[in-house]
Amino acid sequence: MSTVFGLIIQGKIPSKKVFENERILAIEDIHPVAPVHILIMPKKEIPDIHSLEPQDWPLVGEMMSVAQKIAEEKGIVDGYRLVTNNGPNAGQTVFHLHFHLIGGRVLGHLG
Ligand code: AMP
Repeated sequence: MSTVFGLIIQGKIPSKKVFENERILAIEDIHPVAPVHILIMPKKEIPDIHSLEPQDWPLVGEMMSVAQKIAEEKGIVDGYRLVTNNGPNAGQTVFHLHFHLIGGRVLGHLG
């Protein structure tokens, strides 16, 4: 069953797109925690980082490259965080792999 991100990828739910190619979509988070809060996700339905398999490593590498590109475009190279929550105890709420790209303000240390 599709998650909300699956429906966004299929174009059935609107989103504010920041980047898109055949494999990857990046959108603005609907509840931003910082001036820049972008979600970078594969179009392939992968539930979380722990479900990744060796054939997915190139895709993950490309997601990192997209994060670098967006960070440069947004002017936050001096300080940003790229984070993914794996599983409910880590606060994951949407079970379609995504990286949060967060920046644009001074970020506290991980706690
Ligand atoms: P996580 O809790 O790590 O799974 O992250 C899910 C993120 O998705 C949260 O930061 C939500 O604010 C965000 N989110 C949920 N629904 C939408 C949506 N329709 N469009 C954009 N972001 C969303």
